[in-house]
Amino acid sequence: MSEQSKHDSSPADINRRDFLKVGAVVAGTTVAPGVLLYGIAHGKPAEEGASSKVRWGMLIDTTKCASGCTDCVTACNKENGLPGVTSATSATSVQWIRKIDMKESATGRQVSLPMMCQHCEHPPCVDVCPTGASFKREDGIVLVDRHRCIGCRYCMMACPYKARSFVHEPVTDQNPDVPRGKGCVESCTLCVHRIDAGLQPACADSCTNKAILFGDLNDPNSEIAKKIRAVTSVQVRADLGLNTGVRYQGL
Ligand code: SF4
Ligand code: SF4
Repeated sequence: MSEQSKHDSSPADINRRDFLKVGAVVAGTTVAPGVLLYGIAHGKPAEEGASSKVRWGMLIDTTKCASGCTDCVTACNKENGLPGVTSATSATSVQWIRKIDMKESATGRQVSLPMMCQHCEHPPCVDVCPTGASFKREDGIVLVDRHRCIGCRYCMMACPYKARSFVHEPVTDQNPDVPRGKGCVESCTLCVHRIDAGLQPACADSCTNKAILFGDLNDPNSEIAKKIRAVTSVQVRADLGLNTGVRYQGL
């Protein structure tokens, strides 16, 4: 699969941009809607918004991802106060990350990988949202503002990665950093509350095989940008030209 598309801005293309430390104040930065939600949770001033100089992303090495291992799923559920999937096909399942096992028909080679919101640079979910509830932060993280979401689920139909869930049931045991609510659509936030606190997403933290590398795609000196330059990686459905923030190695 080719990584190039008319929308692509690879780390090599954008290496003129300076790296900005997490939480640094940028004069003139536009604060995306909803950022205040997380800013309040961490006592940050509203103007201390996300910076477009950063683009958060992940490189997932499928050669290190073990079939049957669901550590990332468990960590995501715990971190975000999710009940955990009840059935792979249940209409009421809430799942922000899921494991997929694939088999190449020609060679029989088997691959296991985690699939979650790909944090598209050109997200169809945002394009179709009638209320502005779906939005992309300046640093590339795609979120849903639950106060604006009317539960129409257009975004769920528009997402090519089946990354979004609808909350059918009343929510209990919420993590105060991750506000959720019945009647809203939600998906992987890249653990934005952790990123804004200078931490990496829970899934990357939990992976015992270190298959998930998180970092700033825009910083040419970051570990993730260096690795993406050094190895072959792909975007899932690169043909759609969405320029995903999540890349896969070994596919
Ligand atoms: Fe939106 Fe789906 Fe892309 Fe995530 S993967 S940004 S939910 S279109
Ligand atoms: Fe927007 Fe919510 Fe409708 Fe999705 S379900 S398109 S986030 S209003």
